[in-house]
Amino acid sequence: MALTNGDVMADMEELNDGLSARTMIESGNGLTYNDFIILPGYIDFTPKEVDLSCQLTKKIWLKTPLVSSPMDTVTEADMAIALALCGGIGIIHHNCLPEYQANEVQKVKKYKHGFIRDPIVLGPNNTVLDVLDIKEKHGFCGIPITENGVLGGKLLGMVTSRDIDFLETNNLKNTKLENIMTKLGELVTAPSEVTLSEANSILEKSKKGKLPIVNPDGNLVALIARTDLKKAKSYPIASKDGNKQLLVGAAIGTREEDKQRLALLAQAGVDVIVLDSSQGNSIYQINMIKHIKFTYPEIQVIAGNVVTRKQAKTLIDAGTDGLRVGMGSGSICITQEVMAVGRPQATAVYKVADYARRFGVPIIADGGISSTGGIIKALALGASAVMMGSMLAGTTEAPGEYFYADGVRLKKYRGMGSIEAMTRKDAVGSAMSRYFHSEGDQLKVAQGVSGSIVDKGSVLTYVPYLITGIKHGCQDIGAKSLSKLRELMYSDELRFELRSHSAQQEGSVHSLFSYEKRLF
Ligand code: 5GP
Repeated sequence: MALTNGDVMADMEELNDGLSARTMIESGNGLTYNDFIILPGYIDFTPKEVDLSCQLTKKIWLKTPLVSSPMDTVTEADMAIALALCGGIGIIHHNCLPEYQANEVQKVKKYKHGFIRDPIVLGPNNTVLDVLDIKEKHGFCGIPITENGVLGGKLLGMVTSRDIDFLETNNLKNTKLENIMTKLGELVTAPSEVTLSEANSILEKSKKGKLPIVNPDGNLVALIARTDLKKAKSYPIASKDGNKQLLVGAAIGTREEDKQRLALLAQAGVDVIVLDSSQGNSIYQINMIKHIKFTYPEIQVIAGNVVTRKQAKTLIDAGTDGLRVGMGSGSICITQEVMAVGRPQATAVYKVADYARRFGVPIIADGGISSTGGIIKALALGASAVMMGSMLAGTTEAPGEYFYADGVRLKKYRGMGSIEAMTRKDAVGSAMSRYFHSEGDQLKVAQGVSGSIVDKGSVLTYVPYLITGIKHGCQDIGAKSLSKLRELMYSDELRFELRSHSAQQEGSVHSLFSYEKRLF
């Protein structure tokens, strides 16, 4: 007997088990990432083929949907550089003086892979002992000598191990570097516009270990080391602007004095400004969005944070280019406990993304991500990218020194609304404006805690692991790109299922006496 159209439809209906995102979110009482799971789809491609390109704002596209949070234990220049090399973007925190923040932005914009932008430099009157000191501390002694002993001064020569190895020991202390250095006339240098591959061939031909880079006035602007070049990997998916400089963002508040900070950041070449507030639906954000759009039309703005459609509407109407979504879901956050305000993150992401997409405004799911699974879930609910704090804290590139507790190597990680961050000496930015709306707030009420995170190694090896994890997740789902993932979700083809408490237990490691959790 031939099947009718109705039979086929009924058959499809029967096969489509699980829930659509819409039904799941509407039927839940406010869901977190842990409350649900995604049902697998059909695989006809390899993880390598998955395209993770995404929109950060109306005008900025990234190859990797990962953003680092503007927190003083997460993002300064080192993090922003490493993340941009891996295809994401870092947002420099503003719990510091405006000049400091602008300088961090400039370091990212000026970064040239393989170029040492802040080499150790000495002057002609320094002695061999100074060189030996540096050798002991840093393990190298190829040092440029400038007239004034700092980067930017006129290059006079170089000191290398060959210049000091055969000096008699008792002479060392008094020997000035001007007497033993290899003088400028005998040095091989390169102009500031040199590319990495040109520098490579100059070093190869000259057989030197270091190549000083000088501007047309003969001032030292950078250094290239042969050892670094040998190690230098290429980063084909790095996030770059039209001038091939790395992309970077910076956070600001919405006070009058933030306009001055903004001016410095704009001068430093910032690509995107994040308005940093735990409750973004305010007249202050509307005014600041309008100010930025009017004064610096080339800079993209991400406003927030929001968790409802109504909040999103205000900021979209004001002209924002992106939205940051999340309130109270961060790992260090106690907002929901202290203020009784916020929203479970999965629900917030779905609701705001579903609204904002009508206006072409991408959203960033901010906070509450603790695994690659969390990233995939946020993206599957409509987020264009995710912002992470705890996931990236504890890496080599996160600000702060490592310390040990019970034999474990740790780095500090703290909420920007923690008492510790708010009482930082130069805490003129985020802590004061993110959690307080007026100077008159005398008594600080903490909205975050301070803690520590285990050493994760370098972002340059950790983020590729995250990327591979996300690609595998997309393959299991049957989505060859992030836009396909959203398409499957909005067409109800992507199916979800709520998880009971015991289902969540079943979904994590269980029934073992002990185990080791190595992720890569
Ligand atoms: P995580 O990735 O660690 O779960 O969350 C990071 C996010 O938490 C940040 O991007 C920011 O939105 C939020 N956050 C940072 N510091 C604080 C804080 O002190 N209190 C609250 N409520 N949220 C914070």
